[in-house]
Amino acid sequence: MKICRFNHDRIGVVQEDDVYDVTDLFERQLHWPAPLGDVVIGQLEKTLDVVREKLPGIKPLKLSSVRLESPVANPGKIIGAPVNYHAHIEEANGDSEINNGKTFTTLEAYGLFLKANSSLIGTADEVQSAFAGRRTDHEVELAVVIGTTARHVPVEAALDYVAGYTIGLDMSVRGGETPCYRKSPDTYSVLGPWLVTRDEIPDPDNLDLSLHVNGEVRQQANTHLLILNVRRVIAYASALYTLHPGDVIMTGTPAGVGPVLPGDTIKAYVEKIATFDIRVAPQFADQVEG
Ligand code: MN
Repeated sequence: MKICRFNHDRIGVVQEDDVYDVTDLFERQLHWPAPLGDVVIGQLEKTLDVVREKLPGIKPLKLSSVRLESPVANPGKIIGAPVNYHAHIEEANGDSEINNGKTFTTLEAYGLFLKANSSLIGTADEVQSAFAGRRTDHEVELAVVIGTTARHVPVEAALDYVAGYTIGLDMSVRGGETPCYRKSPDTYSVLGPWLVTRDEIPDPDNLDLSLHVNGEVRQQANTHLLILNVRRVIAYASALYTLHPGDVIMTGTPAGVGPVLPGDTIKAYVEKIATFDIRVAPQFADQVEG
């Protein structure tokens, strides 16, 4: 099933060109302190049967008439896996603006990084480059959304902890600061257009993915080229962090990263999920007055 968030926090099921509003089937009252993670994603698995049962009685909206927001509203963590495709390691080691004098070897030598959850937007929004005079690159990635609290998960069982998959853009300022800084400006994490529940993608390690800028292909690969595949990257992350429902793991970008400029249009695709277009805002964030 394809689950979206739209029009100011409505929860929807997407079927072809239609969206069915199923918001009222979810418990959304929060108590303080709120549990870590996303309460709707945490309910998804147990609510899907009710959603299926009620769907025929709901009058759908046209998908083209709604405004799609990030399918995860409150990720506790957005985890990034750097250098998880061999061809991207090669290009990073060959580009001093990416490597800043470092040599990348393995993902484990580098570890994971966290992106601020305030950087998250949906596909109807715009990416806004942070700094005039600094390079901002696109990185298209398969994004895993965790469904069940997970800690020390064995590789073989890792997919049982997944709610679903979505498309991630891990936008990145190039430079010498930490990834947590360079990858966390507002609008630098894009998720969408919806989450595809894990039952529809039994093998996340064989999905084509691509990214175009203004119609020109920049990135084209398949997740079978991941160095740490989806199971292994979940196990690796859960060995360090408790993963909560709604936590997002961006699994790493393939080769072909490169700069975007204000006014560009990015097209991102992951097989079995979707294709979406997102615009880069015409002005840099540091040039907006006020
Ligand atoms: Mn990345």
